[in-house]
Amino acid sequence: MMQAGLDLRAIFQARRRIAGEVVRTPLAASPGLSAAAGGEVRLKLELLQESGAFKLRGATSMIRSLDEAERAGGVVTVSTGNHGRAVALAARRAGIRAVVCLSHLVPGNKLEAIRALGAELRIIGRSQDEAAVEAGRLAREDGMVLVPPFDHPAIIAGQGTIGLELAEDWPELDTVLVPLSGGGLIAGIALALKTIDPAVRVIGISMREGAAMQASLGAGRPLEVEEKASLADSLGGGIGLDNRWTFDLCRRLVDEVILLDEEEIAAGMRHLFREERLVVEGAAAVGVGAILAGKVDLAGRCAALVVSGRNVDMERFLDVVGGRP
Ligand SMILES: *Cc1c(COP(=O)(O)O)cnc(C)c1O
Repeated sequence: MMQAGLDLRAIFQARRRIAGEVVRTPLAASPGLSAAAGGEVRLKLELLQESGAFKLRGATSMIRSLDEAERAGGVVTVSTGNHGRAVALAARRAGIRAVVCLSHLVPGNKLEAIRALGAELRIIGRSQDEAAVEAGRLAREDGMVLVPPFDHPAIIAGQGTIGLELAEDWPELDTVLVPLSGGGLIAGIALALKTIDPAVRVIGISMREGAAMQASLGAGRPLEVEEKASLADSLGGGIGLDNRWTFDLCRRLVDEVILLDEEEIAAGMRHLFREERLVVEGAAAVGVGAILAGKVDLAGRCAALVVSGRNVDMERFLDVVGGRP
């Protein structure tokens, strides 16, 4: 397995591994959001990945870095949904066995999607942490490779390929708004963009309840937070008390973290549906939510919003977008 360091070169290497497996997503102009923000705003449409979210980049990057012996043992992972789905798809394409461990909090539509991709499911406990114990056991006792959702160099480098695409497609870009949970997405993007230009502003956005990275950054060390149900369910879960990569990268590279209330996330989803005609999950709408809530100053800026996924339960979605503002 790749054990190199984590730098811009590693992100270029990840790009080569995932080429042809992952969509090079469009960066779409948004005149409406630009007017609302007083700057130029564009949307990086990661919801267009085949698995419905950007996590296919990291999962493919890591699975394509395994050697023959590792491939023979198969892969195991823990997920709030989108990572498990990405690992299942990447493993099926690579022709290897995949087991996904997840908690009872994960919505039913996400379970079905993973099962349909041919992965074995183990549903355990009420939090990502409990599911993680089972995944660790399978890795130790059955010789499977653990594919973590964010805290691994191959995963972070895979997500970082978004940063390369942003820099290529919009050289004037000076700000990026990124949904933030475990921090693999923002760490990879920040590493790519800030290596190219340290002046680029990188802003993370989480839901107010259970924002583990924000709490950890404030405390100066990885902290556990209580997991709460949120419209942005893909942003749930901790960063791991034994975090090795994303906490330090976020501490070094993230300029600011913004927290949103549930109603602000819902407003982002409604706006993306009504004005941009996009169906997105809560986690993907936080950048728009932050603009509409007036929580980020983008006046005169060139800002990209990472619209990270579309795997939302349809009944839930219809309730949210049907609500009058
Ligand atoms: C996982 C996920 C995120 C957050 O990514 P991290 O690397 O955990 O910070 C954001 N949006 C969606 C849709 C996700 O699935």
